[in-house]
Amino acid sequence: MAVCASVKPDFSKTINTTCAYCGVGCGITASVSDPDLHLVEIKGREDHPANYGRLCSKGSALGETVSLEGRLLHPKIHGKTVVWPEALDEVTRRLQETIQKYGPDAVAFYGSGQLLTEDYYVANKLMKGFIGSANMDTNSRLCMASTVAGQKRAFGSDTVPNTYQDLEMANLLILVGSNTAWCHPVLFQRIRAMKEQRPEMKVVVIDPRKTDTCDIADLHLPIRPGTDALLFNGLLSWLAEQGTIDLPYIEKHTNDFGQSLEVARASFRDYSQLSELCGLDQETVLQFFHWFSTTEKTVTAWSQGVNQSSSGTDKVNGIINCHLATGRIGLPGSGPLSLTGQPNAMGGREVGGLANQLAAHMDFLPEDIDRVGRFWGTTNMARSPGKTAVDLFRAIDRGAIRFLWVMGTNPVVSMPDGNSIIKALKKCPTVVVSDCIEKTDTTALADIVLPAAPWSEKDGTVTNSERRISRQRALFPLAGGSKPDWWILTQVAKRLGYSDAFDFASSADIFREHAALSGFENNTAGKIRDFNIGTKASISDNEYESMDPFQWPVIEDKSQQRLFSAGGFYTDDRRAKFVPTHWQKAANSINAEYPLLLNTGRVRDHWHTMTRTGLSPRLNQHTDEPFLAIHPEDAGSVQLQDQMLCKVSSEFGDAIVRVKHSEAQRVGEVFMPMHWTRQNSQSGFCGVLVNPVVDPVSKQPDLKHTPVKLEPFYHTGNGVLFSREQLSFTDVEYVTEVRSEHGFRYELAGSGLDKLSVLSDFNKRFEKIEYVDAQSDFQSDFQFDGCRVLWLDQYQVQAIWMSGEGRSACDRQWLQSCFGKSVTALEAWYFLSGTPPKGEDAGRQVCACFGVGENTICRTIRENSISDVSVIGEILKAGTNCGSCIPEIRQLLLNIN
Ligand code: SF4
Repeated sequence: MAVCASVKPDFSKTINTTCAYCGVGCGITASVSDPDLHLVEIKGREDHPANYGRLCSKGSALGETVSLEGRLLHPKIHGKTVVWPEALDEVTRRLQETIQKYGPDAVAFYGSGQLLTEDYYVANKLMKGFIGSANMDTNSRLCMASTVAGQKRAFGSDTVPNTYQDLEMANLLILVGSNTAWCHPVLFQRIRAMKEQRPEMKVVVIDPRKTDTCDIADLHLPIRPGTDALLFNGLLSWLAEQGTIDLPYIEKHTNDFGQSLEVARASFRDYSQLSELCGLDQETVLQFFHWFSTTEKTVTAWSQGVNQSSSGTDKVNGIINCHLATGRIGLPGSGPLSLTGQPNAMGGREVGGLANQLAAHMDFLPEDIDRVGRFWGTTNMARSPGKTAVDLFRAIDRGAIRFLWVMGTNPVVSMPDGNSIIKALKKCPTVVVSDCIEKTDTTALADIVLPAAPWSEKDGTVTNSERRISRQRALFPLAGGSKPDWWILTQVAKRLGYSDAFDFASSADIFREHAALSGFENNTAGKIRDFNIGTKASISDNEYESMDPFQWPVIEDKSQQRLFSAGGFYTDDRRAKFVPTHWQKAANSINAEYPLLLNTGRVRDHWHTMTRTGLSPRLNQHTDEPFLAIHPEDAGSVQLQDQMLCKVSSEFGDAIVRVKHSEAQRVGEVFMPMHWTRQNSQSGFCGVLVNPVVDPVSKQPDLKHTPVKLEPFYHTGNGVLFSREQLSFTDVEYVTEVRSEHGFRYELAGSGLDKLSVLSDFNKRFEKIEYVDAQSDFQSDFQFDGCRVLWLDQYQVQAIWMSGEGRSACDRQWLQSCFGKSVTALEAWYFLSGTPPKGEDAGRQVCACFGVGENTICRTIRENSISDVSVIGEILKAGTNCGSCIPEIRQLLLNIN
């Protein structure tokens, strides 16, 4: 049962690998000092072309997230630990029985952009080549399916024409629906550095919110959600009017320009109406149009604000149309560039991870099915596309899919209409989940859980947003009974009777086959496929082990950096296609009952459902609670003060979150982060609110456009509990757990706080010091307006409880620090004040790399009359490592000066 690795990793040396998080795909140099204790120092890899040594706050903190805490280390069936053969037999038995009784389309795999390409390849091969169904979709459907669909419509293939270098070479950079500063931070650092070097470089940000990305913007277009396609229709019309289209390029390399221009022109009356529909001021719109039409070196980069939309595919094509019309594509500093969300969403696309793809960028055309079938040596190929994410879970709900295998993702949290996903999974006769974390909202509903190897233990390849394939290498041996996903899948495939086709001994074996398929009958009979790494099909194990990052396609051993500047698209006639984009309003509009629009997204220091970033104390400090950002004008109309708790409701569910007044929000629109789950918050997750509307072409859900209503969350008590131990609360309506360096913090509100058994338990176990505000209105032992309790054991603070006024006023960062030292009873009294001595009130963390708080920065600015971010860096180091906090420091400077 051992996993064969052809080349044995050496865990005692410096290892080059790739970051676990976003699609930037930064190279990392990891120095393992103790493989048994999982001690590793993480640095940016100096020679990796994605980051050249840089890392963001998340990447820098990876070393804090590799402990075995919370890991799933052994297979379990209905909660009972079993050995691997038993688990694999049971998965196989259930899979076989379901197929025999209900047919192959009654089973489904749901994968993830966290899987390595080799894992993805095996999963896709098993489902589409041997089980004979195409029900293999992935959480990448939630991430970039609209870009895939848009690129395929325009280029005939899912090809990203440009590279990261072009972001730096552009004279005009347009960032659409992308908070690059937080979601692709290293690219943002590269852009910022270039803009500092070349101040004449212009940056336009098109985003409903004034995000940190606007820190480098020359122009911000706070666009009305859902109108991006209209804006780019306007731009196409403007370009034609101004005579700045590239007619020779259009005529030589494209089709359907005239029709697209006609549709674009027909979608608005004049630029005044267009601006009004987009919620923008006309002068700003025309300034943007003017810059685009007069700047040869223009890059348009986009992300989830474009993709996660009921018109996401049209938005993508609207952008691409403007680049095709100007011939600005695949040139140094010119072209469209999709910024992928997940670390290996691109790798998944390469092997057919989406239900409407086959493998190696092939579709369900008869010749593709035949070709892949012959290559795999199977006659049981899936013949048509399978169910895409939203439809897949609906099919489970109605009993059409009866066996689901989820790999490395948490759909209960990330899918829209989360309550319906829970309902579906509860009905599904078999739910198998492969994950490295034991307790997630999805494993809670699994019949069988399988321990998959996480980042730092698995080994294979990933592809970033610029088509660059990099090795992700193991830093430590596999922990407990963990196994790579590809191994788990091959074991099941062999049990199903497909031993020959799944006889892989290592990830290198799989990579070779994947590479061979990409080159198989590629460029024959006049048909060329874009994805081609066929020359890598015969690399040795040692070559795979030492493989340096490279971009696909590789033609005659040479990576192609940019594509399409001289045409050569992957359509039948090798010409690109302009796609007419008939603009329509977003699918779900606000109404009298739900008058506000909910947008969702990420925060700076967290990733997805926090299973990894949640383990790092410093990454938990910048944004410590789930929140709802709302314009003060809207907040006033529903009596929501800053920092109050509010109940958010949509047609689909409810959540309770902290209110954050923000002038960065457009009036009428609110924002919630996507990261919190039932594992760290009782009611602060947004997936239950989000509508399941999908884009008609890409089937990507519109996660950024749900009508909601708000009301204050009325509660009888609230408090904050700091504890050395991790605790759980079942009967409190609002609970959020925040990890700190020496323990945990719980923000609590609702009924039942006066009866918290954990507080009584502390009373029994520890020495108690209590402060009661004489003015307070006594209600019970622990809940009155000003109760503060501290529990000590052997000079060590064990827990602190503050309710009412004390909760609001206490300095959380300072109180968390008291758990790291011995204190006298007298000092303990001081902690009960909740307020640190002058100079020690660091305040909310701004710089995660050096743990520098807001108050410290503000004091330093005032005391030294500082007006420049770099001086803050010289004095406090803040902003000098990953740079993610620079926009915030700049804002503090502006507020003070
Ligand atoms: Fe990782 Fe940050 Fe680089 Fe993304 S930008 S790959 S999260 S280090």
